[in-house]
Amino acid sequence: MPDCLFCRIVAGDVPSDQVSQTPRVIAFRDINPQAPTHVLVIPKDHYPDLAALAAADPGLLAEVTSVADLVATTEGLAGRGYRVVFNTGPEAGQTVFHAHAHVLGGRPLSWPPG
Ligand code: AMP
Ligand code: ZN
Repeated sequence: MPDCLFCRIVAGDVPSDQVSQTPRVIAFRDINPQAPTHVLVIPKDHYPDLAALAAADPGLLAEVTSVADLVATTEGLAGRGYRVVFNTGPEAGQTVFHAHAHVLGGRPLSWPPG
C-alpha cells in the first residue's frame, strides 16, 4: 500500500524510532506521545484495522500483542502497569488505517479514557 504511512515506515521510506522487531511485526515510538512510553506496534503487512487483522490472521494479531508486552517490559512497565489500545473506526478516533496497537505507560492512566 504505497500511500499508507505505516507501510512506508515498514519499507524504511519514512523514518521511525524503532524499538523492537520480529520477522512480521515492528514497534516504533509515536511521533506525538501521550505518555512517557508511547509505542506503536504494527504488523508489517497491511491490514486497515483490528477487525481486518483479527479476521485475516489471528496468529499475527497474537504476535502484535506479544510484542506490545515485550515492549512494555523493556520500557520498565511490567510491574507498574501499562495500557494497550487499538483505536478502531471513526468514533474511536482512528487516523491511520494500518492496524496498530498503542502501548502507553509511565504515568497513571485515567479510566474511562473519555
Ligand atoms: P490512531 O489515531 O489510533 O490511528 O493513531 C495513529 C497514531 O500515529 C497517532 O498517535 C500519531 O501520533 C501517530 N503517528 C502519525 N504519524 C507518525 C509517524 N510518522 N511516526 C510515528 N507515529 C506517527
Ligand atoms: Zn499500511
